[in-house]
Amino acid sequence: MGKTEFKAESKRLLDLMINSIYSQKEVFLRELISNASDAIDKIYYKTLTDDNLSFNQEDYYIKVDPNKDKRTLTITDTGIGMTKEELEKNLGTIAKSGSLSFKSENEIKDGHDIIGQFGVGFYAAFMVADNVTVISKTLGSDEAYKWESQGSDGYTIEPTDKSTVGTEIILTIKENTEDESYDEFLDENRLQNIIKKYSDFIRYPIKMDVTEQQLKEGSDEEYEDVIEEQTINSMVPIWRKNKSELTDEDYESFYQEKRYGFDKPLKHIHLSVDGTIRYNAILYIPENRPFDYYSQDYEKGLELYSNGVLIMDKCADLVPDHFSFVKGLVDSEDLSLNISREMLQHDRQLKLIAKNINKKIKSQLLSLQREEREQYEKFYDAFGRQLKFGVYNEFGANKDVLKDLLMFYSSKEKKLVTLEEYVSRMPEDQKYIYYATGESYEKIEKLPQTELVADKGYEILYFTEEIDEFAIRMLTSYQEKEFKSVSSGDLEIDAEDKKEAEKKDEENKELFDYMKEVLSGKVKDVKVSTRLKTHPVCLSADGEISIEMEKVINAMPD
Ligand code: ADP
Ligand code: MG
Repeated sequence: MGKTEFKAESKRLLDLMINSIYSQKEVFLRELISNASDAIDKIYYKTLTDDNLSFNQEDYYIKVDPNKDKRTLTITDTGIGMTKEELEKNLGTIAKSGSLSFKSENEIKDGHDIIGQFGVGFYAAFMVADNVTVISKTLGSDEAYKWESQGSDGYTIEPTDKSTVGTEIILTIKENTEDESYDEFLDENRLQNIIKKYSDFIRYPIKMDVTEQQLKEGSDEEYEDVIEEQTINSMVPIWRKNKSELTDEDYESFYQEKRYGFDKPLKHIHLSVDGTIRYNAILYIPENRPFDYYSQDYEKGLELYSNGVLIMDKCADLVPDHFSFVKGLVDSEDLSLNISREMLQHDRQLKLIAKNINKKIKSQLLSLQREEREQYEKFYDAFGRQLKFGVYNEFGANKDVLKDLLMFYSSKEKKLVTLEEYVSRMPEDQKYIYYATGESYEKIEKLPQTELVADKGYEILYFTEEIDEFAIRMLTSYQEKEFKSVSSGDLEIDAEDKKEAEKKDEENKELFDYMKEVLSGKVKDVKVSTRLKTHPVCLSADGEISIEMEKVINAMPD
């Protein structure tokens, strides 16, 4: 029988496909399993619309079957199958998606479980196989057909025998070359891992014969290989389950299963959003800071699924930098993917989701802060610095999102307080939110500059991290109260004292001028201070930059 050539520039397209669309070979299995799942969806859909048919869940499955001796990998499904014409049309024309047509022909508007749409996934098989055979029998037909191809030079179709409805795809796996290994695609464990990684939440069982060593009967030392058919995928994604069915332990074990961290999650957020864009998400706030968190090696991002199929390991656009500690995943039916499904075509949908997630994380953190302060302090200890960076970065674009989440050590409370708490306690005559900077709380406590403010009965926030003051300068104020460093030139605490001081400056002009001369280059001015109570002298900053900030700036590399 003669070979039919591929249609539509297919040859060149096929070469291109095989060599460049996918960045990882292993995704061929994801594509074939997705097709199998689509085929079962279609038969299920038919049973819904045809009274003569019934759908028995147990009869529908996908089987993955490696054979090392024959070097074949067979993927079998009990889906709707393909007629001769369909084999020709769908597998003979690249970029022809039978699934897309099926959706429009049957006017399935939210046939959103069907994954296929581009008509290229199938050809991913040629990344790992030099021969692909498809044997298929469609629902309601007595005939079965065999489609076979070695790649870009075409395919053959001939009648064959097959007893059951469905499709069997037999890949002859390539031989290893000097720089590429293909043996792995015949390896039971490796295949299980690939299935788990990409297809764990396919809604039909993906079965495999798994070899396990078991004790021989009647012996307690001799082992034998036992082959057992197992379902590899977990099928129902936890994020599609109802929140009320799930316990904290379920979320915790999912966190561990996914290896989001070695710790326990501090909090989880489970979202099922049904608005302009539909998505489910499970997000975690980790308990501990990853060891590389504040380094360049740390990569933020959430896993992105489209209809239960993994698209991206770490989608950075889904979480803002200031919440880069958040782990988890998003699954949406409404994403428009590009051909390789490694990228999204429009980031509009993604932006919507990201915006929404940003809001949800914030409100979750706020309620943690208000209702479970100890937990929040734990969180803040691990990630508070990132929030402050967030306030400072991008010229303060996110300061409104973050300002309520900030906490600083208070001179009065001797613990971390929020800005809201600080302001709510301010006496009526207090104009500013005062802060003092230093290496440690103990050292700040002893600063002469804090004396006057503390004596007035005002609360002082102690800043011990370099970023603190930069962040606060970016905020400029909180609830219309401006921030003021206790070492700034003019504390504006007592107008009368100030006049008095100015008078004294005049009276002692000669002395101060002499001191300035002696200290020339070291200080800018010498003045009478109204802020000192028990200390004879202190340094204070004049203008926008505080002494501490100056130190940081001077230490920065140019
Ligand atoms: P897509 O899945 O994006 O439509 P593919 O290249 O993966 O594109 O598959 C092309 C078409 O071939 C599918 O749309 C479907 O009509 C058909 N097809 C592929 N695999 C199967 C299968 N296992 N059972 C039935 N039809 C299939
Ligand atoms: Mg497909």
